[in-house]
Amino acid sequence: MSEIALTPVEVTSLSDIGRVRTNNQDACGEFANDAGWRALVVADGMGGHRGGEVASRIAVDTIGQMLGTSHDAPERSLRNAFLAANERVLEVADSDPRCAGMGTTAVALLFAAEGQAWVAHVGDSRAYVYRGGELIALTADHSYVAELQRRGFISPAEAAVHPRRNEVLRSIGGEPYLDVEIRGVDTFPGDCFLLCTDGLWGCVPESEMVAALARTPLEEAVRMLVELANRHGGPDNVTVQLARIPEPASAAPETPTRGEADEASAEEAYTSPWSRIPPAAIGASLLAAILVAAFLWVHFARENSPNAHGAAASQPGKDRP
Ligand code: CA
Repeated sequence: MSEIALTPVEVTSLSDIGRVRTNNQDACGEFANDAGWRALVVADGMGGHRGGEVASRIAVDTIGQMLGTSHDAPERSLRNAFLAANERVLEVADSDPRCAGMGTTAVALLFAAEGQAWVAHVGDSRAYVYRGGELIALTADHSYVAELQRRGFISPAEAAVHPRRNEVLRSIGGEPYLDVEIRGVDTFPGDCFLLCTDGLWGCVPESEMVAALARTPLEEAVRMLVELANRHGGPDNVTVQLARIPEPASAAPETPTRGEADEASAEEAYTSPWSRIPPAAIGASLLAAILVAAFLWVHFARENSPNAHGAAASQPGKDRP
């Protein structure tokens, strides 16, 4: 594999137990290899008290390792990485009774060429891209309710409260044959890719996700997304990864970032407005005010003297003939 000069991607990840669960069965990882590839992986484990945690960790680590050493094309590399993770999870589930029946979803994003990325997934962990103020879904869930929705049997609102909404139709560790869905995506400067588990999209409305994604820096956006899930009750473990394609330096906005703006407005609130004006300017302003007042006083005195002509006509507020 020859080395490629990829635009550096800004990446950040955060996983949280939520407010209801007693352990975090989500896992995530950020990977890079010496060929310049960058990869993000999110997994949401399931099965038993310990199984889910083990399955998601194995999946993330195996996919990351495989991508790190692959000499194949991106799509083939992703497929092989998912198949290796599937084999490994099945092996451990077979050898350790505490992990019997475990499985996990997985979604991976791979940057392996300039202007392009690849998304692979099984289950209901999702990938989106936030572009031009819009959130665009890059994955379609492999789940029972998503299938009912695709066939027109239920509405999105019904899917959101369906008793079988957590049932996935494909998973790593589910069965020896794994059908991995993979697609290529064009990337543009300013794009912000989002990978997440259902702990985010299951309880946070898209409009709130969009508002959080507009935040800078990236760490603030990821923190806000996790906080939103917890504000909505934190019913599940929540994991979020963001990857932003930087804009060229000349296209970067000149307005201060939110942090800088907050700092500036906080400073404004606690600083006397006078302290920002040079003393020489204050002196000049005072002198000008005195001269204007003197001129007006002289003018007013002349106009009101009994000898002045046309005084009444020049006074405002009088009816004109
Ligand atoms: Ca979950």
